[in-house]
Amino acid sequence: MPARTLPTIPVSEVEAHNSDQSCYVTIGAKVYDVTSFLSDHPGGGDLILEYGGKDVKDIMEDELSHTHSEAAYEILDESLVGFMPTEPILNGATKSSKPAEIVPLPPSEQGQAELRAQPPLYAATGMSSAEDLERETDVTADYKTYKFLDLSRPLLMQVWNGGFDKDFYLEQIHRPRHYRGGDSAPLFGNFLEPLSLTPWWVVPSLWVPPSMYGTWWGMSALGIAPTVGYWVFGLFFWTIIEYVLHRFLFHVDVHLPNNRVAITAHFLLHGIHHYLPMDRYRLVMPPTLFAALAAPFWRFAHSIIFWNYHAAVVAYCGGIFGYVCYDCTHYFLHHRTLPAYYHALKKYHLAHHFADYENGFGVTSRFWDRIFGTEITMSSPKVVKAN
Ligand SMILES: [Zn+2]
Ligand SMILES: [Zn+2]
Ligand SMILES: [Zn+2]
Repeated sequence: MPARTLPTIPVSEVEAHNSDQSCYVTIGAKVYDVTSFLSDHPGGGDLILEYGGKDVKDIMEDELSHTHSEAAYEILDESLVGFMPTEPILNGATKSSKPAEIVPLPPSEQGQAELRAQPPLYAATGMSSAEDLERETDVTADYKTYKFLDLSRPLLMQVWNGGFDKDFYLEQIHRPRHYRGGDSAPLFGNFLEPLSLTPWWVVPSLWVPPSMYGTWWGMSALGIAPTVGYWVFGLFFWTIIEYVLHRFLFHVDVHLPNNRVAITAHFLLHGIHHYLPMDRYRLVMPPTLFAALAAPFWRFAHSIIFWNYHAAVVAYCGGIFGYVCYDCTHYFLHHRTLPAYYHALKKYHLAHHFADYENGFGVTSRFWDRIFGTEITMSSPKVVKAN
C-alpha cells in the first residue's frame, strides 16, 4: 500500500511547521505540506500561515471566510506528507488487533526499496509525475547508464560529434533530465556561452515595441476599427501557428532526417527543452532564432492579406504579439506559481513533458489540440491515496 510509505509525524513536529519557510496544515489525521502553495492561495498566504501547524477542516468549510472548491481539496491531496497520530486514533490503535492498519507505520527499509524499484508510470520519459521533472539528475550515473550526453561537458559538440542514430537521439531527448536544480548545463563551453542563454523578459522587451509601432503605423492608414479587426485576426492566427510549429516543426520526430545537421538543429530548436525542461535560460526563443522563424511569416501575412499592405502589417504585428504571449506563458507555466486559472494549463503543459510528448502541443490553450485530436487526457494518477 502506498500509504505505508508515508511517515507518522508527531504532533509537536507538525505544530513547529508554521512559517513561510515550511508550513504544514492538518485535516484530522492527515498532514499536508502547503509551503509551496502559500503564494498561490487565492485568499493570500497569510491566511494559511495563521493556521500553520493546525487543523483547517473547519475554516475551509466556513463560508464566511471564503469558499473552497474541489480544486482546493485536490491541491491538498497532492501535498499529503504524512499522518498525525491523534489521540482517538492512538487509542483505537492500541485496542485494535491490527494497529498498523489504523496508524500508518513509518516507511520501512523494504517499503522504500519497493517504491524506488517501482517502474515509472511513463516508460518513454522515465517519469511518473510533474515533480519528477525537478528530481536532480546524477550526471555521472546518467552518462554511464544511457551513453548519451555528459551534462558536465559542452552539449552542442557532443550532439554534433556523437554519431547518434536518430531513433536513439529522439528516445534520449524525450527523457527529461534536471541539471543542478535548474541551472543551465554548458552548451558551447566557450566565449559564446552567454549567447545561448535567454532570460524570459528579453522576449517582451525586444518584440513588443516593434509590434506596437507597426500597429500604430498601420492604424494611420486604416483607421481604428479595421486595425483592431486585422490585429485580432493576426493574434488568433498565431494560435494556429503556435500549434503547427510545435507539432510539426519542433516535433518533426519521425520525419527528422537521420543526419548530424538535422539532429543538431532539432536539438537547438526544441530538443534541448525536452532534454532539460526546467532550464530557465533555454526556454524562450533566442532573438536570432525567432527572427529567422518570423521572417517567412512576413511574406505569408502579405500573401494572405494581399489586398492591403497596411492591413497585412497590422495582422503580422498581432501575430508577433501572440508569440510574445505564448513564450512568456510557456516560461511562467514552467517557473512561476500562477493564479488558479492557470493551474490546469500548467498541469497540461508539464504533462507534455513528463507523460506524453506526442500530444498536448497547445501551450496557451488546448483549443487546437481538441480540434485536431491531440489533447492529452490523463486519468490523473494519484500517487498517494490515503484511506
Ligand atoms: Zn519531440
Ligand atoms: Zn515546456
Ligand atoms: Zn514539446
